[in-house]
Amino acid sequence: MQISRRAFVKYASVSAAAVGLSSMQLRRAEQAIAAASTPPVVWLSGSGCTGCSISLLNAVNPTIDEVLTSSISLRYHPNLMAAAGELAVTSALSTAQAGGHILVVEGAIPTGASAGYCYVWDEGGRSVTLADAVTQMAATASQIIAVGTCAAYGGIPGAYAPAQVRGLSSYLGRPVIAIPGCPAHPSWVVGAIVQLLAGTPPTLDSYGRPTDYFRRSVHDQCPRRGTEEAKVFGVSGHCMKELGCKGPETKGDCPVRLWNGGQSWCVAVNGLCIGCTEPTFPKFPLHKALAVDRSTPTPTPIRTATATPRATRTPTATSTPTATATPSPTATQTPRGGNPERTPRPTKTPRSRIAVPVIAGDVAPGVDSDY
Ligand code: SF4
Ligand code: SF4
Repeated sequence: MQISRRAFVKYASVSAAAVGLSSMQLRRAEQAIAAASTPPVVWLSGSGCTGCSISLLNAVNPTIDEVLTSSISLRYHPNLMAAAGELAVTSALSTAQAGGHILVVEGAIPTGASAGYCYVWDEGGRSVTLADAVTQMAATASQIIAVGTCAAYGGIPGAYAPAQVRGLSSYLGRPVIAIPGCPAHPSWVVGAIVQLLAGTPPTLDSYGRPTDYFRRSVHDQCPRRGTEEAKVFGVSGHCMKELGCKGPETKGDCPVRLWNGGQSWCVAVNGLCIGCTEPTFPKFPLHKALAVDRSTPTPTPIRTATATPRATRTPTATSTPTATATPSPTATQTPRGGNPERTPRPTKTPRSRIAVPVIAGDVAPGVDSDY
C-alpha cells in the first residue's frame, strides 16, 4: 500500500500536535516532504535489541514502516528496507557521500576490542564496525538522532558489559538529538523528524532530549500523585513510590501521551516507572525489594518430633515378641483404627506475613479503571 506524503503529514500532525507544532511549521514540513529535496535518512543499528524499531512499527496508521519507505527517503535500515546486501550498503555509502542526510542511530556503540563487538557490513572485503560506520555517516549528516536510551546514553548494553559501549553524543563528541526510552515512543521519534523537516529543530535539554516531550517529570503528570502509597504490587490506583517507582526522577510525558496508540502506560498497568528515559538507566535496583517482616514468630510445625513410630503395636499371641516390639514408654500415638483420645493437633498458628520481593512480570496485567 502506497502512503502519500499528504498521509504522512496528516499522521505527523496528529503526533506532533501535542508538542505545539504550529500550522505554519506543519505546512513547511509538508512542503519539505513534497519537494524533491526531502532529506534522506540512514538508520544504523548498534548494540541493542531493535526494540525501538519494533516500537516504531507499532505506530498508528499509517504504520511507520510505510511512512519511512514510502513517504520519506529511507536510504538504509537494516530491518525495514527492501534492499539487502551490497545494494543496501551502496545506498548507505552513496547517501553519505552526497551528504545532507539525517543519520539515525539505534543501539549503543561498542568501543572495546577495537570496536569489534558490532559490525554492520562489509566494504571492499573489509568488515566495517558500527563505530566506523557512525563516524563516516555522521561526518556529512545534516542532523543526527539517537533513538532509544542505548543510542542516547549507553542504556542496557552499557550496564555491565565489557564492550565499553558509548552513547552517540559521547562517542562523536558533539551534541545530537536524543530520543531516549526503552523503547523510544514512536511519536517522540516521528515528531522530532517532522520538526526537522519543518526547519524548526526541537529545543533540547542538557541531555539532548527535546523539551517538548521531556520537560516535565513522569511524577508531575502522574494521576496517582498524592494518592496513598502502595506497600505491595498489584494494588491499583495507589502511588508506587515506596516500591521503587522512579517517576519523580524521570523526564517524559508518558502519563499524558500514553503508549500503544494511546492505550496505557507503565504505572497504569501497575508497573513502575523504571526511569528508562534517563542517562542513568538502568539504575539498580530497578524494583526495590520489599523488606522481609521478621517480627512475626516462625509458624509452629503441625506434627511434632514426639510422634511415635509404628513399633508400638501390641504383639499377637502367635508372634514372637522381639525387643523392638516392646511398647515404648514415650508412646503417645495409638495404632491406626481410631482412638478418640489421640493427641489433638496443635492449634494452627497464623501464617507469618512475609513480604516477598516482586518484579513487574509477576503482576497480572490489568488496566486501572480510571485510565
Ligand atoms: S506512581 Fe510513580 S510516577 Fe506516579 S505518583 Fe507515584 S511515584 Fe510518582
Ligand atoms: S513511564 Fe517511565 S519506564 Fe515507563 S516508558 Fe515512561 S519513562 Fe520509561
